[in-house]
Amino acid sequence: MKRRDFLMSSLALFALSALPKLTLAEAIAVPDAVKAKVNTANKLGFGFMRLPLKNPDDQTSIDYKTLDKMVDLFLARGFTYFDTAWMYMGYESEVALRKSLVERYPRDKFTVASKLPIGFLKSKEEQEEIFNKQLEKTGLEYFDYYLVHNVNANTIGNARKYDSFKFVADKKKEGKVKHIGFSFHDSPELLEEVLKEHPEVEFVQLQINYVDWDNASIQSRRCYEIALKYNKPVIVMEPVKGGTLANLPPAVEKVFKEAEPNMSPASWAIRYAASLEGVMMVLSGMSTLEQVEDNTAYMQNFKSLTAQEMKVIEKAVETLHASVAISCTGCQYCVEWCPMKIAIPSYFALYNAEKQEISNKPFTAQKMYYANLAKTHGKASACVQCHRCEKHCPQHIEIVKWLKEVAKTFEA
Ligand code: SF4
Ligand code: SF4
Repeated sequence: MKRRDFLMSSLALFALSALPKLTLAEAIAVPDAVKAKVNTANKLGFGFMRLPLKNPDDQTSIDYKTLDKMVDLFLARGFTYFDTAWMYMGYESEVALRKSLVERYPRDKFTVASKLPIGFLKSKEEQEEIFNKQLEKTGLEYFDYYLVHNVNANTIGNARKYDSFKFVADKKKEGKVKHIGFSFHDSPELLEEVLKEHPEVEFVQLQINYVDWDNASIQSRRCYEIALKYNKPVIVMEPVKGGTLANLPPAVEKVFKEAEPNMSPASWAIRYAASLEGVMMVLSGMSTLEQVEDNTAYMQNFKSLTAQEMKVIEKAVETLHASVAISCTGCQYCVEWCPMKIAIPSYFALYNAEKQEISNKPFTAQKMYYANLAKTHGKASACVQCHRCEKHCPQHIEIVKWLKEVAKTFEA
């Protein structure tokens, strides 16, 4: 039996009512300053991080014949935004963008976003070297959008030490970048700190999808709210959670198919993100021509989700949550008793999200969030099995047992 089927059948005994619920996005007020910066048309961006490959074991073996067709169709249907980064596709993504886009289309037909890889930096000077190399790799004279890449608890130190935000702001002054922002993978608290420090940024790139919206660790909704509080429009990454929401368990897919037999599961996920009023762009890392066909078809004449459609998503989320491994409600009652300061509910939320991912992914956002949290909290493996926490858990969760599973999943 496949892992997901096993979870669906054996774990449905957990009480659904105890699990986090999706909150309707319409409840969030969007400032006029953000609305003014958001164009409701053409909100789909082509992410160059999961390109078609000739050899699935070699990220650099890009299938240019297929990629060219994908780029042609994307542009023909009126979309213009392309997103790349220094290390995507084994450092070949920016080169692929040059070959498939820049060398085949006039500059006014597209916009390009790339990013400064702060996690990789070893010196301040390296920023200039990388930036110039990025222009060379892409064949561009300027980037339309340039982001400080992947700001989180682990990387913010480098950004501060090397003055990375000033670096990108200086590039804007030089005219080599049109708009500056940053991509972010961490807590709403850190997001607020960074936005206070850097009022000059024009937008924020966040992980938002209907599963992570109220996930206790990823906290997409809270991060979205913080971005709006600082009048920043949002670019959404991982709307389909790295393909997970396109390959749903049968019971969840059935919910969508019953509502709209002809719409793909991915369409629900991308439309969900695009329906958020403060979102200026939704990135999709497309790997096949069929995916471009599908995504561009429903996004060409984009319509926000109706209240009825939002209810379908809520039902799908409930069905998906029925497959979670640990029925933790995130009440935090256990936390204060732990002598090792283990982030018990946050780790459980990440573990549940990890188990809902499609299998065999070498990288997941959960792994990164776990590493970030473990910097300031005890790791799951630090548990000394005193069982104090379990005495205070209203859900009677075997915390010690599950922490061992968490450690196996995230610390291996
Ligand atoms: S059993 Fe482990 S997680 Fe629970 S309080 Fe003790 S050390 Fe913390
Ligand atoms: S007390 Fe139980 S339900 Fe509450 S956060 Fe801790 S593990 Fe989760």
